[in-house]
Amino acid sequence: VVSLERLNQVGSVDVDLGCINVGAGATLSTIQAAAASNGWMFGVDLASRESASVGGMIATNAGGLRVVQHGQMRQQIVSLEAVLADGTILLGTQDAPKDNAGYDLAQLLIGSEGTLGIVTSARLRLVPPDRNAMVALVGVRELAVAIRLIGKLRRAECTLAAAEFFDDAAIELVCQHTGAARPIAEMPWYVVIECVGDQDLIGVVSDVFSEFSGIQDDLVVIGSDTASARRLWNYRERITESIARVGVAHKLDVGIPRFKLDSFAAKVRASISGFDSASVTLFGHLNEGNVHVNVLGVDRHDEKIDDAVLRLVAEFGGNVAAEHGVGRAKSAWLHLSRTPEELRTMRAIKFAFDPKGILNPGAVLV
Ligand SMILES: Cc1cc2nc3c(=O)[nH]c(=O)nc-3n(C[C@H](O)[C@H](O)[C@H](O)COP(=O)(O)OP(=O)(O)OC[C@H]3O[C@@H](n4cnc5c(N)ncnc54)[C@H](O)[C@@H]3O)c2cc1C
Repeated sequence: VVSLERLNQVGSVDVDLGCINVGAGATLSTIQAAAASNGWMFGVDLASRESASVGGMIATNAGGLRVVQHGQMRQQIVSLEAVLADGTILLGTQDAPKDNAGYDLAQLLIGSEGTLGIVTSARLRLVPPDRNAMVALVGVRELAVAIRLIGKLRRAECTLAAAEFFDDAAIELVCQHTGAARPIAEMPWYVVIECVGDQDLIGVVSDVFSEFSGIQDDLVVIGSDTASARRLWNYRERITESIARVGVAHKLDVGIPRFKLDSFAAKVRASISGFDSASVTLFGHLNEGNVHVNVLGVDRHDEKIDDAVLRLVAEFGGNVAAEHGVGRAKSAWLHLSRTPEELRTMRAIKFAFDPKGILNPGAVLV
């Protein structure tokens, strides 16, 4: 067992280049604070910001709330240092933004879930901070409407920074757990969007909403100051803890072609109804078609429900691991998203890096 908790150094921010060197054990919140106090921002944000380490985020290529604006962890790495299975230290010292000198080993390690090497430190790219932000919560009957809405917002005179969705079961659990009131009348789906920019954001976003026939005025709440924006974000960010209060959920983190999200949700609910006392909560990252399927009320060791949902994902042309990785729990289903040729190539890469199979055995590849 390797713990990197003490590799938690956070170097000084290079204010001219917008970069920071950090140890693998540094948490996301400490990086965000260091960037902010130097006039920069880190482009990835997760609700687990207090506990998520940069090493874990690199290993899982974490996504989170701002992928639509800044991409996943992969896009934030300038270079990294890693230790291979035989003790070799790969030292990424490059600071030139363009680099096509051979294979990109850092990018291969990102998202490899500790199966190819142990990340010990990284040089991270920072982004300019957002000036003004406005948050809106919108109720919609279909996710297809919300997808067209964010398509319009991406072309409007503001920057779409986040677009998160959740179903009525999710908001009900959050309201029960936190005591918050429902923000709007009951709807099948809710979307929290955040737009940033220097313009009159409320004016720009309101114009988009009013031109958009799928959105009713009484199904929109706007949070224009920090406190009201935080209140709206809580409906999304407190879903995971609200589910955990009820029981241990089966958690599937899947990617679905975006215009198939509504029919996927309907099929998941239909297949759950075949399991006595099971209930499902659906939420996730809209622009990436990333759905967190959480099923409560099923024995935690009974994998039939996982199998049913992941086979459905494959039927929809989706992927069985969108942002949390494959780990050991989902490795038996990786073949649903990858061809035999791809799996063979992955095994060859694993063997080249770790011929004795000592790094995270059983994770990703069975
Ligand atoms: C409330 C909540 C919300 C979340 N929201 C999101 C979200 O929106 N998007 C998202 O992508 N994730 C999300 N996550 C999960 C998130 O991915 C993890 O919190 C984080 O990315 C992993 O960091 P960790 O330090 O917890 O890693 P761990 O869980 O400790 O490790 C994750 C994997 O990486 C490997 N690993 C860890 N460190 C290293 C290293 N230094 N070198 C090589 N391998 C390593 C481990 O062996 C393991 O396989 C959420 C989690 C919670 C609890």
